[in-house]
Amino acid sequence: MDDLMPLLQRAVEHAVAYRTSLPERRVRAELDVDALAAAFDGPLQAQALPPGEVLDQLAAAAEPGLVATAGPRFFGFVIGGALPAATAADVLASGWDQVAFNNVASPAGAAAERAAGTWLKLLLGLPDLASVGFVTGAQAANTVGLAAGRHHQLGAAGWDVERRGLAGAPRLRVIASEERHATVDRSLRLLGLGSDVVEPVRADAGGAMDVDDLARVLAAAEPGPTLLCLQAGNVNTGACDDVRRAVQVARRHGPAWVHVDGAFGLWAAASPRTRHLLDGLELADSWGCDGHKWLNVPYDSAFAFCAHPDVHVAAMSYTASYLTGSGGAPGPADLTAESSRRARGFAVWAALKELGRDGVTDLVDRTCALARRFADALREAGFEIANDVVLNQVLVAFGSDQHTDAVVEAVQRDGTCWMGATTWRGRRYMRISVSNHATSEADVDRSVAAIIRLAQEVSA
Ligand SMILES: *Cc1c(COP(=O)(O)O)cnc(C)c1O
Repeated sequence: MDDLMPLLQRAVEHAVAYRTSLPERRVRAELDVDALAAAFDGPLQAQALPPGEVLDQLAAAAEPGLVATAGPRFFGFVIGGALPAATAADVLASGWDQVAFNNVASPAGAAAERAAGTWLKLLLGLPDLASVGFVTGAQAANTVGLAAGRHHQLGAAGWDVERRGLAGAPRLRVIASEERHATVDRSLRLLGLGSDVVEPVRADAGGAMDVDDLARVLAAAEPGPTLLCLQAGNVNTGACDDVRRAVQVARRHGPAWVHVDGAFGLWAAASPRTRHLLDGLELADSWGCDGHKWLNVPYDSAFAFCAHPDVHVAAMSYTASYLTGSGGAPGPADLTAESSRRARGFAVWAALKELGRDGVTDLVDRTCALARRFADALREAGFEIANDVVLNQVLVAFGSDQHTDAVVEAVQRDGTCWMGATTWRGRRYMRISVSNHATSEADVDRSVAAIIRLAQEVSA
């Protein structure tokens, strides 16, 4: 134990030095994965090493390969940087080393998830009776939501899919937008439905589902077991499907389980300024949402919400005779695909406490305003903004596809900020996501200045 204090202090010193360097550090990594190999590789020695030495070796090896995703000028992939209290809570979660398996294995881990789950439902306007599974990411949240839907829809048709699997099962239709996130297809693969099962619905110009086309797709078959997967927050444009109309159209046709993939976009519901984008959200049956994106919680953290807790548990739970505390009131592992896992509820609880209700609203409003600031400044500089900036996403082109790609590459190499590239409606764009609590107007202005300078250099 004597050794632990200096060791953990040392770890904290490394972490704090890194975090403190973020505002001025180059965003991109200094070395790529192959260049880092020399520091990480080599034979595993036979003898034990003192933990402090291991820690210092790790820090020295990793530092040049870290990307400042946690910093204020990382604008890729819709991901935020962990809030201070959430980061500290995650350090504690490692120190406590709890297994958030059930209510007996870690009462504290389970209680934190229960409280944080209640707050999340309130903030997002989801039914208070909904169940919440604390999963690794929106990928996992979508898998859980669609698994619950699979159980429910096939169960209503007299088929117990958990026992019997899919061979010989009634047909289960899966309807989703052509603009669905690529992870939805992987969820369908994992659920044994396969990605070919999707009956795609056309999207409108902004990337939201065309609900008239949904009616056409639904009408192509008789009413029967159906999963309808909607989206809150298109990864390119931020557009949200019209949940109210889509649910009405689907339910008019026949039975349907409606799942909403709201990895980042579900947070639009936490602000009065953007809530209208998700009108009717509470009418769905399940929802997936990330903590590690817009809520600025450390990886890996996301939420699988289900309006029908019994269905959620029936689709996910398992028991075994040796598992003390299984059965009875559903615990953490009854709502996720993981069995033993990290107590990730502590960091979520801490993030929500740190922000408070007003802070969550402010986080959404502020990052959306900063996205508009990006769009306004780049438009004024003569560049084309391709999307209506309804949330925190901006698409900007710098002339031809080749030119746009060259600008994105130059920006990434420069290191003032980091943006990815994407293809939208057949053209290449720089994709800007503002999701970090620490990003300021000055960070946006500094990034815009770098982008304009590099765009000119690339042309020259
Ligand atoms: C990021 C994202 C996902 C996948 O989320 P992970 O947290 O990476 O698992 C799914 N859907 C949408 C819309 C996303 O933006």
